[in-house]
Parts: sequence; C-alpha cells; structure tokens
Amino acid sequence: MPNASIVAVGTELLFGQTVNTNAAYVSEQLQLLGVSVLYHFTVGDNPARMKRTLALAFAESDIVVTTGGLGPTQDDITKEMIAEHMGAPLVYDEEAKARLDAIMRDIGRANYTENNMKQAWLPEGCTVFYNNAGTAPGFALERGGKTAIALPGPPREMKKMMRESVIPYLSQKSDSVIYSKMLRFYGIGESALETALLPIIDGQTDPTVAPYAKEGECAVRVTSMRRTEAEARAAVEATVARARELAGAYLYSEDDEEYHEVVVRLLAEKGLRLAAAESCTGGLFAGAITAVAGSSAVFDRGFVTYSNASKTALLGVPADVIERYGAVSEPCCRAMALGALARSDADIAVAVTGIAGPGGSDCGKPVGTGFYGIARRGARGDGDGEGASDARAEVHEKYFRDRGRRVNRQAAVLELCDMVRKAIEGGGR
Ligand code: ATP
Repeated sequence: MPNASIVAVGTELLFGQTVNTNAAYVSEQLQLLGVSVLYHFTVGDNPARMKRTLALAFAESDIVVTTGGLGPTQDDITKEMIAEHMGAPLVYDEEAKARLDAIMRDIGRANYTENNMKQAWLPEGCTVFYNNAGTAPGFALERGGKTAIALPGPPREMKKMMRESVIPYLSQKSDSVIYSKMLRFYGIGESALETALLPIIDGQTDPTVAPYAKEGECAVRVTSMRRTEAEARAAVEATVARARELAGAYLYSEDDEEYHEVVVRLLAEKGLRLAAAESCTGGLFAGAITAVAGSSAVFDRGFVTYSNASKTALLGVPADVIERYGAVSEPCCRAMALGALARSDADIAVAVTGIAGPGGSDCGKPVGTGFYGIARRGARGDGDGEGASDARAEVHEKYFRDRGRRVNRQAAVLELCDMVRKAIEGGGR
C-alpha cells in the first residue's frame, strides 16, 4: 500500500487566516484510494523552508501532494521548488499557454502580464492536470520511485482537479480497486456502537471497519481493496449486512446521507407530507428539511412558536395546559403536534419544546431536556386531538447532556429526524 504526505503551502495558513481544509479533503480522498497518509505539513511561501519541508516529506513518503502556491505571482514557488527537488527543468507547455490565452480572452484581459505566463512553464516529463475551474495547472511528476502531485490552493479548483485528474491518475497506477461505504448511526454512543460491532471490527484486515466521531451521531466507514470492483463491493456489502444485524436499529443511512436527507427521501418514497411545530429549535428542523432538494413535495409547513402566546395562537395549545404543566412539558408538546397536524395539510406533524440553554432551566428541568411529539393523521382512530379527530400523538421526553446552545439545538433536530424515520418505517415508539 503506497503512502503519502500532504504539504499545504501558504503563509495565510500559518497566520490562521485560512483553515487548512485542503489537507482534510485530500487525506480523505487518498484514504479512499488505499493510500495511507502519514504526515500533514504546512509551510509559508518561503523558499528555504519549503525546500526543507519538501525534502522531509519526500524522505518519509512515496507520494507528496502539495496544495497552493501555483499561481502567477512572485511568491508562488511550489512548482519551482518541486522541479528543483526532483531535478526536472521547467519547460514551456503550449497547451497550458493556449488555455491561459483562452481564459484571459474570455475575461477580457487579452494583454495579460508576463507573470501570468509563468503558469505555462511546467516540469519536464510531468503529467499536466489542466485547471477547469481556474488558471493554474497542476501536475504529477515521477522521479526515482517518488511522485509529486501539485494542486492549486483555492479549494474549488483543488477539489475539481482531484476528482477529475488525480483520482483517475492514481487509480490507473494501482492494480487494486477500493470500494467503501459510510454508515451513519443515531441514538447509540460511540463506545456502545464499537462494542456492538466488535465481531466485524476485531481482527479486521479487509474490509476494514473504521469508526468516525461525529457531532451527536456516529459514522463507520467500511472499506475493501480487491482486484476487481465487484469483489471489493461484495466484501463491503457482506460486512454492511453484518453491521445491519448487529446495530441495525440505529443505522439510518448506508450512503453517508445526512439525517434530514434520509427523512425527505423516506417521506417521498411513501408519498407523505410533513409539518413541524418548533419551539427551542426555532425553525432549525424546517431549515434542514427544506435545504434538501425536492423537499417541496414532502414538506407542508413549519410553525416557529417560541412564545407561549404563539403556541396558543398558531397551534391552539390551550393556555391552561401551558399554565399548569409549563411550555416544556409532555401535554404542551402533544398539543403542539396535534395542533400542527390540524392546522396543516400534512400527514405527519412533529413538535419539539425544550431547553436549549444556557438559561431557562429555572422551570426545574435541566438544560438539554426536550419533549418530542409526533402526530399522524388517520391512525387507528382513537382520536385525542383537537381538530384532527382521528389523529394520534405520541410524545417522549429526552435529555441530552448540555453541550452548549448550538449543539443542543442540533441534537434536537436529529431527534426529530429519528422520530420521523421510525414512524415511517413502522417502528413507532
Ligand atoms: P491562485 O494563485 O491561482 O489562486 P494558488 O495555487 O497560488 O492559486 P494560493 O495563492 O496558495 O493558490 O491560495 C489561493 C487561496 O486558496 C488562498 O487565499 C486560500 O483562500 C485558499 N487556500 C489555499 N490553500 C488552502 C488550504 N490548504 N486550505 C484551504 N484553503 C486554501
């Protein structure tokens, strides 16, 4: 298995003005190709330090991927430093020049300056990766068993080049194929999940099963490297099937989808429409659902009822329910869910009322407490709802350890998604 290091070039990265997202992206893509990443280096636009960094990176790894410093200005020196390190002179590339001319013509700068021309000079014998999203070309250069891959700094350009040129370039060099799947779990902690999946984690060689920490949920990547894609896919599918047996109740996506994307997909598959009554999340759930393309077919409306008065005015929550039990209570949440269902054209309505913090725990309930309700139209007919006589609502209380207002609210959104998925899949609560 080849290994690699990533050298991110740019003084702005050292100043902390730009977060080095390129290294994370390149690492993830390389791992998917079966290339293990050994080091991340970050260096400014300084020739002596870049020279030492490249020497170190090449000494430690088979492949060195650089990002940044390929542009036209004086301080863009990555290409020159790589060429020098590998002993390859820079030669003039007609195609790079022609492409540069075309871009400059398009943007109305036919008489561009000499320093732009710098981008048409590339190391002799390299494989050029022409830039389809910007001007600076990237390249791969092989010498003495080592490979340098130089990519532009702007993430949009770098990612496009990675997808369109680098991945095919590296895959074609490898005699094996990688296939992987990212499984997403909700409602189970990281260590509990690892324990549940132990039979497929313990002693793994291929497929590998790697847990990833995520906010409020867990993810597991299952990867296989075989001679053919069919073999790798079959190995991964078999392990995924085992994961389903071991922790299927918590598994919400086998395709690295966000939970709200899964909810939209499931609603669409069943032809169901959704409404939401939100207090502590202030519309965050509706925002997540409507961020998914195609949500107009499944999302009817959202009620952001933050104040007690709005819960009564918009959802018909009886004022005396709030007075007696409080806004963060089971009866209030039930009335919110049923009210949202009655006042919408949805088949399912969800409701949440809770304490996002940091204040608000003075009602006797700790920050992180929430009540989550779901009401469905036309279920079994023992109506308990105002206006939707055949509707049923189920409410549960859930306490999340207080992790700050933003995370608390995100956690509530995931819980709402979980409730909808389970209702659709017939699990109920
Ligand atoms: P060009 O000069 O043609 O834009 P370049 O290859 O010279 O491309 P840089 O000048 O090094 O790229 O970086 C351009 C911009 O890309 C930076 O200002 C920064 O916003 C972003 N960028 C650079 N490196 C990274 C990185 N490692 N992670 C995230 N963003 C980056």
